[in-house]
Amino acid sequence: MAEDLLGIIGAGTMGSGIAQLAAQNGFSVTMRDIDKELVQEGLQRIEADLKEAEDRDIIKNADEVFGRVTGTTDLRDVTDEATFIIEAATEDEELKQSIFEELDEMTDPNVVLGSNTSSISLTTIATAADHPERVIGTHFFNPPVKMKLVELITGHHTDDDTLARAEDLAADLGRESIVVDDFPGFATSRLGLVLGMEAARMVQQGVASPEDIDTAMEMGYNHPMGPLKLGDYNGWDVRVEVGEYLAEELGSDVYRPPQNIKKMVRAGDYGVKSGQGFYDWSDE
Ligand code: NAD
Repeated sequence: MAEDLLGIIGAGTMGSGIAQLAAQNGFSVTMRDIDKELVQEGLQRIEADLKEAEDRDIIKNADEVFGRVTGTTDLRDVTDEATFIIEAATEDEELKQSIFEELDEMTDPNVVLGSNTSSISLTTIATAADHPERVIGTHFFNPPVKMKLVELITGHHTDDDTLARAEDLAADLGRESIVVDDFPGFATSRLGLVLGMEAARMVQQGVASPEDIDTAMEMGYNHPMGPLKLGDYNGWDVRVEVGEYLAEELGSDVYRPPQNIKKMVRAGDYGVKSGQGFYDWSDE
């Protein structure tokens, strides 16, 4: 493995998921969030998931794997040792820029700085860094331990060495990588969002039930999961933000979230993570 220690910024759905994937593949990982409770929640999610994987004979040594993950609120714990840092904080351009400014100041220029953003321009994020050549999009999918793809997004200044190291890391994590130029929505979100928003609009228009719309795509188009169930997994709060961003950037209303999703998000029904979305996940 080319990288010594992975740093993860954010201990939410994706940060904890990427940390778990890395630990399962033999990496030592330090995961940072802004307060102790969030770090603890992220660690507990990883521990519970590893135990379940051990019970189902998917992995053998849950305790040993979990032992490779450290949680912290102190950014220095990440920047002092990590050779590759993946930012998986809240989808907010200003926030991500402030994180990259800090990471750029606090690390050696040889450290690669990846962002898990689903939609924000990598070139824009990288303007916060004095060394934008080492900034790259490392877009994992939810849940990272199950989803095989990493979409690598090259910003305007991303150099070949950074891309090569990101490709090596993806391979070391057992993922397939694709390379996409920095363009709104990249390859995956741009196509996936259209389907998710249109499916929600169809529910609003009374075209069919969420179950039947999902079954249409699962059985009729051979998608492994329908767009509404997938949105429940991804979190509609994140989807609404990405949809609004893409509607503005690409100048198209197909990305604009319909009122039914906005209302769900206002009510806190984000999907799996809150226990309720288009489906009831309270037993999950
Ligand atoms: P989330 O809300 O579950 O977690 C985000 C975490 O970032 C929170 O715990 C928050 O406290 C933390 N955070 C905020 N500011 C921070 C800072 N300065 N330092 C450290 N942590 C900070 O969100 P998520 O679903 O994990 O999404 C994270 C990123 O991954 C977003 O950019 C999102 O677009 C992207 N993404 C999400 C999915 C998905 O399905 N959820 C899939 C692919 C990519």
